Amino acid sequence: MTALHAPLDLQEDVAAPPLRWLNRYARLGPAFYTLLPAQAVPEPHWVARSDDLAASLGWPPDWAERPDWRALQVLAGATPWQGAEPLATVYSGHQFGVWAGQLGDGRALLLGEIDTPRGPMELQLKGSGMTPYSRMGDGRAVLRSSIREFLCSEAMHHLGIPTTRALAVVGSKLPVRREAIETAAVVMRVAPSFLRFGHFEHFAHHDQPASLRTLADYAIERYYPECVDTPNAYAALLEAVARRTATLIADWQAVGFCHGVMNTDNMSLLGLTIDYGPFGFLDGFDPGHVCNHSDHQGRYAYARQPGVALWNLHALAQALLPLIANGEEVSEATGELALEAIEPYRSGFAETLQSRMRAKLGFATVDDGDPALIDGWLELLAAERTDFTIAWRRLADYTEADPSPVRDLFLDRAAFDAWAVRYAIRLRAEASIDAERAERMNRVNPKFVLRNHLCENAIRAAQGGDFGETARLLEVLQHPFDEQPEHAADADFPPDWAQTLEVSCSS
Ligand code: AMP
Ligand code: MG
Repeated sequence: MTALHAPLDLQEDVAAPPLRWLNRYARLGPAFYTLLPAQAVPEPHWVARSDDLAASLGWPPDWAERPDWRALQVLAGATPWQGAEPLATVYSGHQFGVWAGQLGDGRALLLGEIDTPRGPMELQLKGSGMTPYSRMGDGRAVLRSSIREFLCSEAMHHLGIPTTRALAVVGSKLPVRREAIETAAVVMRVAPSFLRFGHFEHFAHHDQPASLRTLADYAIERYYPECVDTPNAYAALLEAVARRTATLIADWQAVGFCHGVMNTDNMSLLGLTIDYGPFGFLDGFDPGHVCNHSDHQGRYAYARQPGVALWNLHALAQALLPLIANGEEVSEATGELALEAIEPYRSGFAETLQSRMRAKLGFATVDDGDPALIDGWLELLAAERTDFTIAWRRLADYTEADPSPVRDLFLDRAAFDAWAVRYAIRLRAEASIDAERAERMNRVNPKFVLRNHLCENAIRAAQGGDFGETARLLEVLQHPFDEQPEHAADADFPPDWAQTLEVSCSS
């Protein structure tokens, strides 16, 4: 194991930007983490930054260059920020449906929590070196996966989908061994909390009910205060998490996002998209699409995500049973209470997805026939693996007089026409005005998503030392619903080589 750096108070080299540190996780006590500094990457350089995120934190526009911030050195792990209390949290989880024991934080470091105009936010470095939870890993992240996480976090945020965010990436020449030798990078991530289902599973599995309770009380007080005045605050917490998860997964399905590794340690307690690994946006619509090359069983296929999220909620429910029992022995009644608490996931997911799909179809009202119409459209897309993003976007331009923009996407014109008749009747029934409908639809059907090949282009350029493409793509993805005609190529069909891109867990 690489030697750890000296404790913070022995380092003279401290930067002191005017941040107000709250560090409430650190107050939980040593059962929940290990305090340790980052291990620096040598000769760091900037790869990418989200100035938009920095601004939303209330940071000055020149934060990255200010001598008093020393941001490059801080992100590289070479210099701490005064007031930070870097720590690796401990969590466990189920991977691919199997209990995997202790998993993290193997390569992430919570620097602390700061006060911002958006409320308290935690700052985390990912790829900042080994921790006591690194297992066989090296504590590092490669440039390739760091750019993927950076771009997708910001893309998801601008799509309006709950997510952890990424402030910046720094790169280094430090070699990192994956399938081949690559170079290291560090991402700074930002979220109100990085708590995962796996944090709770950890203390439940190790039969530490007091710590479990401390963590749950912390989560309730900080993130789910509405649960306090309920008959069973822990069941209420579970239900609230189930509801947020339902919204999150409906959002993913609606935009064609596959997470790729929905293990319970990658499920956010706040219902955020977290841990961008082998994720992918659907190109051609294939419900069975598996974006993670290492997922041989297709456990995390696009169409399975809603069911997997429910499975994961069961794991969280299991972990919370001792708390839900409220001082009594866990009994059948406790189990029933827990199951009842996650039940709203099903209806919440179904209702949210229906409403997203209705909006995507441009409907302003609700009709009993909508589910069949939605299914009919998705069947059309699936039959020919029609491009998901392009098809939805073009549907906005559909009119009875000229359906060609969308109709031309299908080889089976008769199948499209049969569906379009029903669509037209439905639109007429609500006296829909084409131009207004198109405008509504273009606000919910993105023109730009982070397709694999776009990301790959940015990565290849960055690996050659050119970070301009990453910056350009970030800007495009910050306005996913705008036409941006000058970037039309980014909204086009993927090139043939995109089909051969393979994304694995290796990151
Ligand atoms: P993931 O499925 O990518 O979220 O990874 C599962 C766990 O493995 C995470 O909790 C990380 O802490 C840990 N991990 C992944 N990659 C590394 C690495 N290179 N070094 C240390 N730990 C790692
Ligand atoms: Mg993870």
